[in-house]
Amino acid sequence: MNASPIRFYPKQQALNLANELHDSFGRRLNYLRISVTDRCNMRCDYCRPAADAYRAEPRSHILQFEEIERIVRVAAGLGVNKVRITGGEPLVRKDLPDLIAKIAAIDGIIDLAMTSNATYLAKHAQALKDAGLHRINISLDTLHPLRFQKLTGSDLQPVLDGIQAAKGVGLLPIKLNTVLMKGINEDEVAELIDFATAMGATIRFIELMPMKQGMDWDKHYVSIEDVLRRDDVRARVEVGDMTTGNTAARYLPLKHGKGEVGFIMPMSDRFCEGCNRLRLTADGGLRSCLPADKHMNLRDVLRGGGTDDDIRSVFMRSALMKPEIGIYDFSADVDKRSMIHVGG
Ligand code: SAM
Repeated sequence: MNASPIRFYPKQQALNLANELHDSFGRRLNYLRISVTDRCNMRCDYCRPAADAYRAEPRSHILQFEEIERIVRVAAGLGVNKVRITGGEPLVRKDLPDLIAKIAAIDGIIDLAMTSNATYLAKHAQALKDAGLHRINISLDTLHPLRFQKLTGSDLQPVLDGIQAAKGVGLLPIKLNTVLMKGINEDEVAELIDFATAMGATIRFIELMPMKQGMDWDKHYVSIEDVLRRDDVRARVEVGDMTTGNTAARYLPLKHGKGEVGFIMPMSDRFCEGCNRLRLTADGGLRSCLPADKHMNLRDVLRGGGTDDDIRSVFMRSALMKPEIGIYDFSADVDKRSMIHVGG
């Protein structure tokens, strides 16, 4: 893997056009992904350090809902209008709909989404919808119950029930996310496309990223390009130029019927050019780039009596720290680099 060094431009000014947050490269940052917990009911080896070695943050380090609400309010004043709740598993956080309601009520937030493994979704879908959640992305790596159990340590059926529930209450559009893993699920792409099509959902296949995780990246990484060579996939997807937008996913149309299939290629086709994201970790870290470890902490600012101007200043400085390109450092060996910590 060729990796050019991360470049920071700390002396440049963030362009503050009409109070909007921009980084040193002119990218507008209007999307905040918020991890509300670094705990999860699942035990996926591709997401957390090996052998359950991940040490979750002490509960006292985790941001309270009121703290998250305040941060989002300040961010909205800087032009952040899109928020995604993630984790860990957001639904292991008690009373999550209360947080959704707080964020939904903030002026300027026009898109409020969540990423979940859906195990507890059937129980909470209606409350989330009523609280103001617009839509949901659900992780689904396999449709085979035994594989699912082996990969996640959990049962598949509650997840399928959760997907149905999301559809039933209108958390739409539903997107399904599948991390592709050689020797684990790369033979299931066609089956998963058929499942999503039948559900009226859009499926997106994601290349495995080398974060700090219990799964050997070299052994299990498979590129989207390889997947698109499969006959059973080409029978379903019109392979050609992919549509692009300002999201991480690229899309190809289905061959039969309406709809499309998404591909997220952090390894083979970096999408940094259009990146509009900042990430807030459950313990208050404000990360400007998924694989970059350098970040500032908002919890310290809040709990140290910081003003809204102080919070704003952290956002501005964080924007300036955003590298032009995200570089995956294969030698990283820190728990705080795992997806369960950063929030996928
Ligand atoms: N628990 C929720 C879920 O399962 O969707 C939200 C958190 S999870 C960290 C968010 C996303 O990160 C999921 O779609 C998951 O598949 C993805 N993810 C985790 N580790 C990954 C890795 N090493 N490479 C690519 N995607 C990963």
